[in-house]
Amino acid sequence: MTKKRFAQHWLRSDKILDRIVKSAELLPDDRVLEIGPGTGILTRQLLPLARSVVSVEIDRDLCRNLVKKLGNLENFVLLEGDFLNLDLPTILAPMSDIFHRQNKVVANIPYNITGPILEKLLGMIASPNPQPYESIVLLIQKEVADRLCAQPDSKTFGALSVRVQYLANCELICPVPAKAFYPPPKVESAVVRLTPRAIENPAKDPKFLDRIVRQGFANKRKMLRNNLKDTIDSDRLSEILEQLEIDPQVRAENLSVANWISLSDRLLETVQ
Ligand code: SAH
Repeated sequence: MTKKRFAQHWLRSDKILDRIVKSAELLPDDRVLEIGPGTGILTRQLLPLARSVVSVEIDRDLCRNLVKKLGNLENFVLLEGDFLNLDLPTILAPMSDIFHRQNKVVANIPYNITGPILEKLLGMIASPNPQPYESIVLLIQKEVADRLCAQPDSKTFGALSVRVQYLANCELICPVPAKAFYPPPKVESAVVRLTPRAIENPAKDPKFLDRIVRQGFANKRKMLRNNLKDTIDSDRLSEILEQLEIDPQVRAENLSVANWISLSDRLLETVQ
């Protein structure tokens, strides 16, 4: 039995399982965080490869079974609760060192909370996670995966692409058909790997960057200068775009992350 409200779909493809585990490139010292272990199919693969695995599962019945199956392993901790509400460092502090400071995330997550999970793992443009993970391998909805990994000038390149790519490199590892799960979800899926990176040239005012990215993409059919007209006069923006060697007719989807940062810094001088 699966519970719809917890977005439960059990992965049943060994091939995909293998792709997920391989793309995490686990080393014996890695401390892994898993969100939504479900029946433990992925957890079981991770445990022998890593120093420790901490898994967070919301469903009490599943937790009971997981404890029966894996509870005697010394490098495993199962936390019962909502990942979004748990303060992991505080909960894990009294436990053995091997359960402190997870450096990798590997998970087949509940799709209904993908946005908030990404935000908790990566932080936001204006408040990046101060202790970034080395890598985050997730099985997510294909449509979201495409947006995370999209390049400028494509239809799928949106505010989410900019906001996540500002914080991490995003790679599409492989598509995953619905039939790889039981019960099959209504949507297609994909494995992605996010690698948080030091931001070489951070925006001078990341809050402002976040704001113009959201505004810029508000109406994707409009030109950027129309979407941003509450922030800056459209003729003035055209001039600035020209100075930055960007076509004044651009739409938000045509700007690279680097373009967004220079635009944000340049606008800051003008608007304030
Ligand atoms: N990893 C398993 C299950 C994936 S389904 C597999 O590959 O087969 C998603 C899992 O996330 C389910 O076990 C569900 O109960 C759990 N889940 C849903 N919401 C959650 C939340 N807020 N916090 C933690 N786990 C959650």
